[in-house]
Amino acid sequence: MNDFRADLHCHTTCSDGSTSPTELIKQAVEKKLKGLSITDHDTISAYQIAWPIAQQYHLRLISGVEFSTTHKGQSVHVLAYSFALNSPLIEQFCQQHKRQRQQRNQAILDLLTAQGMPIQEEDLIDPLHSHTIGRPHIAQAMVKKGYVSSIPEAFHKYIGEGCSCYAAGHYFQVEETIDLIHQAQGFAVIAHPHLIDDSSILLDLLNMHFDGIEGYYGRFQPADQERWVKIGKRRGWLITGGSDFHGDMKPHISLGSSWVNEETFQILEDRFKHNQATI
Ligand code: AMP
Ligand code: ZN
Ligand code: FE
Ligand code: FE
Repeated sequence: MNDFRADLHCHTTCSDGSTSPTELIKQAVEKKLKGLSITDHDTISAYQIAWPIAQQYHLRLISGVEFSTTHKGQSVHVLAYSFALNSPLIEQFCQQHKRQRQQRNQAILDLLTAQGMPIQEEDLIDPLHSHTIGRPHIAQAMVKKGYVSSIPEAFHKYIGEGCSCYAAGHYFQVEETIDLIHQAQGFAVIAHPHLIDDSSILLDLLNMHFDGIEGYYGRFQPADQERWVKIGKRRGWLITGGSDFHGDMKPHISLGSSWVNEETFQILEDRFKHNQATI
C-alpha cells in the first residue's frame, strides 16, 4: 500500500503561523508526511531555514507561497507552486507585497491610534525583517497592550473588514498574479475556493488561466470535495490539497489533515526540480 501523503498548504512564523520553519519540518516528519510545500502569505523566507532541514530528514519539500490578491474589490488567495526558490521574479513580487503591506499596516495603526489605541510599527516588526506582517500580528499587539482580550475580538470590533479601523490596502489583481507565476514557470492554484462567497467572483476565477484548484482542504464534507474535484477535472486542472495549518494561531487545524497523493505531488515536484536546475 502506498501511504504517501503531502500537505501542500501550511504557514510558519514567517507569516502568521506560530510554528518555526524548523519545527514545521520536524512535525511533518513526525506525522509521517512524505511531501510538503510551505505556503506562507506573500513570502518564501521560510525556505532558507526549512530547505536544509528537509534535506536532512529526507522530506520531499517543494516551493510554495500564498499570494494575497484582489478581484473586483474582493480578497482572493492564490497559491503558487514549483517555481525556482531563487527566482528573481518571485523574490521581487514578494518584496512588492511587503511594501504594500507596510503601507496598509501603517494605515490601520493610524486608525487605531486615532481611536485611542496607539501601537507603533516597532511593536509589530520581527527581528529577521523578512516576515510578512498582517492583521493577525496587529491583533496580537492589541491583545498585548490590553486593548482587547482576544484576537477574534480585535477582528470583530476593530480591524475586520468593514470595521472602524479596517484599511483595505493595495493588492495585485488575480490575473497579474497568475501571469507572474507563469513567467516564473510555476503553477497557479485557486486556494480554498469554498471561502469565495460571491458566485460571480468564483465564476470569473474559474474562467481564468489557473493550473489548479485546492480540492482537498481541512474539514470539507465529502460532497464539497467532490464538487471542487469535478470542477477542476473538467478543466484539466491539477487538484491540490492541504491543511492550511497555522499552529496555535488556528489550533483546530492539524498539519497533514488534508493532503495529496504521490501522483499529484510528483507533477509539482518534477516541475520544481526542472526549474531549480534551469534558472
Ligand atoms: P491580512 O492578510 O493582513 O488581511 O490578514 C488576514 C488574515 O487574518 C487571515 O488569513 C486570517 O488568518 C486572519 N483573520 C481574518 N479574520 C479573522 C478573524 N475574524 N479572527 C481571527 N483571525 C482572522
Ligand atoms: Zn494565514
Ligand atoms: Fe488563505
Ligand atoms: Fe493559508
